[in-house]
Amino acid sequence: MARKTERVVIVGGAIVGSMVAYFLRETGFSGGIIVVERDPTYQRSSTALSAAAIRTQFGTPVNIHMSLFGAEFFRTIKDRFGSDADIGFIERGYLILGGPESVSARRAGVEMQRREGADVVALSPDEAHARFPWLNVEDIGIATTAGRSEGWFDAWSLMSLVRSAARARGVEYVRGNAESLEFSGGRLTGVRLSNGTVLEADWIVNAAGANSAALVRSIGIDLPVSPRKRTVFSIKAPVDRTDFPMLFDTSGAWIRPEGEGFICGIALAEEDDPDATGDFEPSHDLLENALWPALAHRVPALEQLRVERAWAGHYEVNALDHNGIIGSHDKIPNLVFATGFSGHGVMHSPATGRGVAELITNGQFQTIDLSPLGFERIRTGVPLHETVVF
Ligand SMILES: Cc1cc2nc3c(=O)[nH]c(=O)nc-3n(C[C@H](O)[C@H](O)[C@H](O)COP(=O)(O)OP(=O)(O)OC[C@H]3O[C@@H](n4cnc5c(N)ncnc54)[C@H](O)[C@@H]3O)c2cc1C
Repeated sequence: MARKTERVVIVGGAIVGSMVAYFLRETGFSGGIIVVERDPTYQRSSTALSAAAIRTQFGTPVNIHMSLFGAEFFRTIKDRFGSDADIGFIERGYLILGGPESVSARRAGVEMQRREGADVVALSPDEAHARFPWLNVEDIGIATTAGRSEGWFDAWSLMSLVRSAARARGVEYVRGNAESLEFSGGRLTGVRLSNGTVLEADWIVNAAGANSAALVRSIGIDLPVSPRKRTVFSIKAPVDRTDFPMLFDTSGAWIRPEGEGFICGIALAEEDDPDATGDFEPSHDLLENALWPALAHRVPALEQLRVERAWAGHYEVNALDHNGIIGSHDKIPNLVFATGFSGHGVMHSPATGRGVAELITNGQFQTIDLSPLGFERIRTGVPLHETVVF
């Protein structure tokens, strides 16, 4: 097939762009693959600043399938990349709490998740307390967790492995800022870098994360993806970390073990979550005003937490529906999106890489039908709402 020998330029070389490059070779693509990355240190990439957790507890079936694929990828990382490959995958269920008003909706959610292949179970408050004795369950109505395919890992190690494997298969990483896209005769012909170089391309993949809307603005596409700041606090606390899950509280607070302590954060209300272009300053006041009280209420031993450090990174939020945008532009087929993941891009990067590679190499999604996440819904404004958003 001619398309297997064409030339792909991927803009953005962090986890999503690197997964696309890696899987292109896995699917038999033998043409040129160039990854353009403006910052090879990745210090402000969402990938490097992520909490790197994976869950199957979603409200949208396609997201569940993508997570199941991701968990299998992480579980079998040594088979794929060799016995030294280690991403520190801790396979442990999230514990997502719900108030009494949410019980029937949450139980229906669990039914759907199980039908789609996830190993999710609902716990009553008493059952949750029996399993997690440190948990204050006085004001909750339900807790849900999973026996498999959830947990956390090291995103940096994952990216390094995938990037090295891509390079070893002849993928070229080029340092440069993709400034605009070259367009002629109804299709894209190349990527223009800030230094004036034009990289000619048969396919262009937009994996530019929180900056992906800026990339396509040059050809008049209005992508509803923008950077939204998320602050992560690294803390120590006298709490037993054995079996401590990735805990999501009804308040929006979350916490999970990391190293010798924990990392934690809190979801923001829409009105407190503006476009954060260029802003990487941690919101320190969140801890005192919202996060600490919420955590201490839920896990009383966290009253004694001590902050070690804090950092802020960007979610690439798709304001239409908080779901990824994956696949070709409906009018410009050689422009392929892999962006807008809104806080779940690392866990979904293997499935995204695989799907985009299948689309380019074989003309269709094969392993998972990712078409519900396609671009057409962006043009028509018909959302595919993800309801389980943090
Ligand atoms: C605090 C925090 C916690 C998170 N927690 C989780 C989690 O638990 N689980 C999960 O799955 N996800 C989580 N996420 C989201 C996840 O990190 C992102 O969805 C994911 O990293 C997106 O990967 P990406 O490669 O698309 O984007 P990025 O990692 O941002 O990479 C995009 C790359 O593109 C480059 N780039 C951008 N524009 C250009 C250009 N014009 N030219 C050249 N290069 C360009 C950038 O330099 C960057 O390296 C979290 C994010 C944050 C900030």
